[in-house]
Formats: sequence, structure tokens, C-alpha cells
Amino acid sequence: MLKEVKDSQAKVECVDCGVITNHDVTDIEVPYLEEFDEYENVVLGCTCGTSEVFNVNIPVDAEDEKFETGDLPLEEEVQRYYVRILQRLVRPDLNGSD
Ligand SMILES: [Zn+2]
Repeated sequence: MLKEVKDSQAKVECVDCGVITNHDVTDIEVPYLEEFDEYENVVLGCTCGTSEVFNVNIPVDAEDEKFETGDLPLEEEVQRYYVRILQRLVRPDLNGSD
């Protein structure tokens, strides 16, 4: 679970052991997968061996989300907020490297 995404650092709390690890995502750039018409997932691993997978293909703008308040658990809404920041960092079409 993402705890924070700030200054190209993603803090992830392990779903398995609860340890929070810091990941520098500066050098992560996900490839576009033509077959699926999506960008590849971001995988961030914990020292215990558990990896968490983040789908960076959610609507770029929060305004485009089709959810209303209460549709999603608050925790999920917060996760999407952080994923939105993350995908702006790692997707070549969004991070300015394209
Ligand atoms: Zn762990």
C-alpha cells in the first residue's frame, strides 16, 4: 500500500510484514504494452520478498474518475490519489520524457 509519493520517492507499506520501504522511482519508466493498450504495472518489492503491483493506468485527471464520494472505501480513494502521482512520474507520456 502506498503511504506517500513525494519528491520521486514512493513509500510502500508491505501488506505482508507491515514494514515501510522507500523506493526511488526516478529511474523507473514503464513501457507501453501495445497488446493490452496499457502501460506496464509498477512492481515495488519489500525486503521480505513480497511485491506489490501498482496499475498506473487509472484516469490521469481526478476529474475523470467515474466514482462519487462513498463509492469507494476511503483507503482506496487515497491509494488512487497516490497512484495518480506515481503514474505521472513513471509513464513516458506523462513525465515529459516522451
Ligand atoms: Zn514485507
